[in-house]
Amino acid sequence: MSPSERRPSETIAAHYQEAVQWRRQLHRNPQPAWLEFYSTGFVAEKLAEWGYDLLLGKDIIEADKRVVVPDLQTLEAEYGRAIASGIKERFIAPARGGYTGVVGVLKGALPGPTVGFRFDIDSLEILESSDPSHRPAAQGFISQNPGYAHMCGHDVHTAIGLLLAAHFAENRETLRGTVKFVFQPSEENLGGAVAMVEKKVVDDLDFLFGGHVGISMKQLGQIAMNVKSFMALSRFEVTYRGRAAHAALRPNDGKNALLGACAAVSNLYAIARHADGASRVNVGVMQAGTAWNIIPDKAYLRMETRGVTNEINEFMALKAREVLEGAAKMYDLAIEIEHAATALSAESSPELVELGTSIAEKLPSTVQVIQEAAFNASEDVTVMMERVQSRGGRALFVLFGAPVGGGHHSTTFDVDEEVIRNGAEFLAAMQQAVSARSPQSPLAERRDKA
Ligand SMILES: [Zn+2]
Ligand SMILES: [Zn+2]
Repeated sequence: MSPSERRPSETIAAHYQEAVQWRRQLHRNPQPAWLEFYSTGFVAEKLAEWGYDLLLGKDIIEADKRVVVPDLQTLEAEYGRAIASGIKERFIAPARGGYTGVVGVLKGALPGPTVGFRFDIDSLEILESSDPSHRPAAQGFISQNPGYAHMCGHDVHTAIGLLLAAHFAENRETLRGTVKFVFQPSEENLGGAVAMVEKKVVDDLDFLFGGHVGISMKQLGQIAMNVKSFMALSRFEVTYRGRAAHAALRPNDGKNALLGACAAVSNLYAIARHADGASRVNVGVMQAGTAWNIIPDKAYLRMETRGVTNEINEFMALKAREVLEGAAKMYDLAIEIEHAATALSAESSPELVELGTSIAEKLPSTVQVIQEAAFNASEDVTVMMERVQSRGGRALFVLFGAPVGGGHHSTTFDVDEEVIRNGAEFLAAMQQAVSARSPQSPLAERRDKA
């Protein structure tokens, strides 16, 4: 059979069992935000072997835009762990110090648009269940890095990406345009996308595709096309500094940082709700004080606001800053507010929603196309979608249906691995469809006209 006659499903089916093994390998070796050395090296080695041009380290990660970076000791320990687990150092040396993630580019033999695919690679900080009823435990691919585990399915996303990348590499002679794989670190902390976007990683994309397994799609073969209600989000690390004093002898000399933090917390929850739509506020961490008899001179908060639109979140974040600063004034404290994460609200491009629907309906793996689904959480893919769309490109984010064990972010999360094949098939078919429709790069054409 000539290469031109191969359908995506054939190469994808041929590599599917391997992709399951890749997923399990990744599942065994989880690392969270900015520590994803194992998955970075694992992906980079495969892409290089398949002929992709690689971009790594500070070429794809803007140092200053990284938020909540682990300390040097942890960074080095996890770097060493990846090497001890079989990762070749040359593939992760550029990532050393917390510059994880991989971009791989493959130019097809035929002209066409540049199509990007984004996959997140980070794990959560959670202890995976070792209960024998939990499949990864029973079948021997449970996390080997206790305290870290892939309980959101990003190992599955990475496997979908690799399966898709293998497919394009094998069909390079008939590939139209360029495919660009963006394996993004630090999704859970909502910091990776911004750091990559700042390095212009998605600026050349005519099309961007992303997705998540499960969420509200719990059945294999379901696919949700128009994912709405991405919540825009802002996170802050807040430090109050006062003055320590003896709690009995000279309390009047103290400046109580704990009290300032308390005033802030109760008033943060009292921010008025916005009439235009849903909003959220949460203080997830509060630490203060050292002893019974000392006026606490330092207090630390981690807090976040969200809104169903960017405007609502901006309102929430602005009010939160006023409350935080007001509390500092009230107790005569110094305050530092550090921005710790961003996600935006975003919507898929209508043309791609329509095209995706017709493509999905024709795929044998599809059981049901859901027209609209709510995400009801935050995802920093939105930062990439917004960038691509604002530059004239198109973006689509879908949900791939799969049973998810105990649920996302639980200790017994697990995924039906069939979704790896379904996801890769859909994305391969989308690339084929958009490149057949746009023999030239639409962005380049628009740029030429302008
Ligand atoms: Zn998650
Ligand atoms: Zn996730």
